[in-house]
Amino acid sequence: MFGQNKPTTKHYFSDMPENSLGIVSRFYTLQGEGPYSGMPALFIRLSKCNLTCGFCDTYFNDMIIYSFNELYDDGINCIINWREKNNSIDNKDINDHKNWIKNNVGIVITGGEPMLQENIKGFLEYVKDKFAWSQIESNGTIYSDIPEHTTLVCSPKAPKKKYIKPSLKYLNRADCLKFVVSSDENSPYYDIPDWAVEWSLKTKKPIYVSPMNIYKKEPEQSKILRMQNTENDIITRSDVDEVISFWEDGLLDTTQNEKNHNRAGLLCMRYGFKLNLQVHLYASLP
Ligand code: SF4
Repeated sequence: MFGQNKPTTKHYFSDMPENSLGIVSRFYTLQGEGPYSGMPALFIRLSKCNLTCGFCDTYFNDMIIYSFNELYDDGINCIINWREKNNSIDNKDINDHKNWIKNNVGIVITGGEPMLQENIKGFLEYVKDKFAWSQIESNGTIYSDIPEHTTLVCSPKAPKKKYIKPSLKYLNRADCLKFVVSSDENSPYYDIPDWAVEWSLKTKKPIYVSPMNIYKKEPEQSKILRMQNTENDIITRSDVDEVISFWEDGLLDTTQNEKNHNRAGLLCMRYGFKLNLQVHLYASLP
């Protein structure tokens, strides 16, 4: 994260047991961005990334290996615990919970770079009838033949001053593209690349434009965790490390972010794209 991670290849996961995934965290929240923005979702953050982006605010280096069954059970328990804590249920039957989740909650697979793990295809098939919808978000550099029922959000990055264009196969499969935008004219994130504008014109599929959020410091709770310098468990990582609040005093560089938001708005109006704000930050959710 913040460009400090060691980039990882698919080889890293070659010994992964069948029907299992290496994950960092899982949490129940609202999807903050893209086609399902604002909708309840179980997030599963997979470990490691193959890129090193300087603005990256995601912690993805830890890893715990879960079988598909363990991951599903743990995710369901995470949602049930939230529902019980927030008094939004009137019975405790697990099948009622599962049924409610199936009709109301999506599942989002993110990272790091989730396509690093081949087993992701199998997991998306496994959860097909267990959630209302599914989405995977990837940087577009590794193609994996994921199931048709899953929405593929491709968010290309420019770690070496130029956007890495996804392969033709990848672009044919992508359901939408998402670009993070900066107001710095010298940044590769200042504009949307021509190939993406052409892709959108040709396919009529949407492009989401996100203003880059610049941080002045690490979120307080994450900093405390890191200073403890201990191996954190998945619950701590999920419930504390993932939470970034728009309202934390002094966290965000509001001067720079205002310019980035202006730039993102301008690009949307110029090209007919959609402004994409990280709405979960406003609710202080993970
Ligand atoms: S591709 Fe995404 S997760 Fe990976 S380093 Fe870049 S911003 Fe972070």
